[in-house]
Amino acid sequence: MGVPLLDLSLQYTQLKEESDALWLDVMSNAAYIGGSKVEQIEKEIADYCGVKHCIAVANGTDALFLILEALGIRRGDEVITTPWTFFASIESIGHVGATPVLIDIEPGTYNIDPLKIEEAITERTKAIMPVHIYGQCADMDAINAIAEKHGLVVIEDACQAIGATYKRKRAGSLAKAAAFSFFPTKNLGCAGDGGCITTDDGKLADRMRLVARHGEAQKYVHTTFGTNSRLDALQAGLLSLRLIKLDEWNQQRRQAAEYYLEKLVDVGDLEMPVERDYGKGVYHLFILKSAKAPEAVSYLHEQGIGSALYYPKSLHEQEVLREIPNFKKPTLPVAEDSASKTFALPCYPGITQVQQDEVIEAVRTFYSLA
Ligand SMILES: *Cc1c(COP(=O)(O)O)cnc(C)c1O
Repeated sequence: MGVPLLDLSLQYTQLKEESDALWLDVMSNAAYIGGSKVEQIEKEIADYCGVKHCIAVANGTDALFLILEALGIRRGDEVITTPWTFFASIESIGHVGATPVLIDIEPGTYNIDPLKIEEAITERTKAIMPVHIYGQCADMDAINAIAEKHGLVVIEDACQAIGATYKRKRAGSLAKAAAFSFFPTKNLGCAGDGGCITTDDGKLADRMRLVARHGEAQKYVHTTFGTNSRLDALQAGLLSLRLIKLDEWNQQRRQAAEYYLEKLVDVGDLEMPVERDYGKGVYHLFILKSAKAPEAVSYLHEQGIGSALYYPKSLHEQEVLREIPNFKKPTLPVAEDSASKTFALPCYPGITQVQQDEVIEAVRTFYSLA
């Protein structure tokens, strides 16, 4: 039969009537950018995350850049973050001219290791940027305590983690500000690019909004050099429809993950993903670790099953980082040992047990042959 790594069509078919009506509504009103639909989703996301402000922007990369910009992080400053993420996390630090300082991750969760943060702090350090990788929150109490002790600000890259909880609070409300992406494959995705920022800080929110709208304080009065980063009405409307379903969809991902955890626990050299008891992850990806990951991925492809390495390389190994002033390539044993050994199995809302059984059977067969 075959099982895809991700099936996005379900998010459309489950809300087909509403989505089609929305499309016609936006087309006939010809109000494409900004307006009430964008204001509405900003309010809904702020309420959902439990924060005062949400600023809709064009994508998750812009969200990170705008946060760093508004915090005044500039050339010569250092931001401590993880090499185990999508490139945008580090790219945004480079975009404001600052230097990313990459430290090692925890085995099992693949999140930034709080125990490694303090030794990386220098007089130039301004911020810590944890990434809630694969949909599980980083250990935010530990990170916030270090930040407070050293007078640093904490920024969440929550792009993979909308709906994840940490001690009953939601991702997006756990630090100074957080970035979300609505790229179609994310847990809350739109029909194109989209993103937002959440924060409780009203002054910071004003600055980010200003910079995202060409620095235009009043009509034709530009008080800073900004950029253009907006969410359009169609995406905003679609996100409002899908946000209502998000908890149910995240729960379906968790159930699918639990089924794999139960059925694959003693197969080959597979290491299961670790869930920390401080919160509930949303399984943006279900990740296994194995020395034979590349061969397993190829075998699964031959069987028609979607799988991919996440990530084939730790970002501290990217050559382009040499272009960043003062970047020092670190040695990071856990991240280096995880590269090309971690791979994803199909885990998305709507996946059936029959499909999961097919995946499990193929994984078992591969490891019995291997
Ligand atoms: C997707 C993602 C981003 C970037 O979001 P875009 O909307 O694609 O710009 C940033 N960080 C992480 C961890 C991501 O997964």
